[in-house]
Amino acid sequence: MQVLGQELVKWYENHHRNLPWRHTKDPYQIWLSEVILQQTRVDQGLPYFLKFVHTFPTVELLAKATEQEVLSLWQGLGYYSRGRNLHKTAQIIAHEYNGAFPNSYEGLLKLKGIGPYTAAAISSFAFDLPHAVVDGNVFRILSRYFGIDLAINSSAGKKTFEKIAGEVLNIKQPALHNQAIMEFGALQCKPVAPKCSECPLQLSCAAFAENKVHLLPVKEKKIKIRHRFFVYHVQTDQENRLALERRVAGDIWEGLFQFPMIELKSSEEQITYLQSFATSWQSPKFKHVLTHQKIEAYFVLAPLREKKEEKIHYSLQEISELPLPRLIDKFLEQHRKDLPI
Ligand code: SF4
Repeated sequence: MQVLGQELVKWYENHHRNLPWRHTKDPYQIWLSEVILQQTRVDQGLPYFLKFVHTFPTVELLAKATEQEVLSLWQGLGYYSRGRNLHKTAQIIAHEYNGAFPNSYEGLLKLKGIGPYTAAAISSFAFDLPHAVVDGNVFRILSRYFGIDLAINSSAGKKTFEKIAGEVLNIKQPALHNQAIMEFGALQCKPVAPKCSECPLQLSCAAFAENKVHLLPVKEKKIKIRHRFFVYHVQTDQENRLALERRVAGDIWEGLFQFPMIELKSSEEQITYLQSFATSWQSPKFKHVLTHQKIEAYFVLAPLREKKEEKIHYSLQEISELPLPRLIDKFLEQHRKDLPI
């Protein structure tokens, strides 16, 4: 652990970029740089940082500006809500804190728009408090250096990396350590094409030794959930048999049997559609959750109006032997008594 910290600082002393926010202990300027650099590259953010410090040298002056003045200066950075929040936080610090930033991690966390990363950055850079920053660069270095394949966007992964970042932190020089680890991630252990061949950590880096650099860090893919709205039509024939259709290929429950069904685009459309069958018996809403889909379904005791392919009618006994989606099974279990058979 100690070796990692020492090597990072040694590397930093020879390779770091000369950036103005690294020469100040003013929490206002440090906060300004952190807000500007969120979702913005250093070379793009630098002129904005200089413009803001020049126009509003203190948090009080920023607080006194109109929103229009702040946003005109922000123009071109995008994400205007960040500019607005910057202004609001400046007003809170000017009015509620007498213009002085809280000098503790916990105090900083209470401010609007300041999360654990920014609180750790300000408390270490401005006040030399021993809080480890954990941003994308830090996740990447720790995951590769220690060969950890826990997803960095999972809660278990975040906890583990935060814990390791805290253990690796040089508590005697937290500001220098935090600058060093982030700069190392930005310039050396980069997301794509890291410079392993000229890396001072190469001999002790687990990912390098195991040839896993390109596989780390691991990120869980966020699953996009599709919301679907079904109305099933329960229809009997004169022999008390129920009409069923078979689900087509290329969708969930391929080949399984179901009541003739119509799919609506939204919950509003589904409700309007159901209102057109107001005189027919209707089930309560069924919610059915699959890995990538959330289905809201109703069952109506009425034939489906639109023409569809020929339906086949089955007795309940026959249906019990057919492959059915769990949703249809659930309906039959709960509402068998409501069917006119
Ligand atoms: S050897 Fe490569 S992967 Fe390992 S710390 Fe250095 S740059 Fe990153």
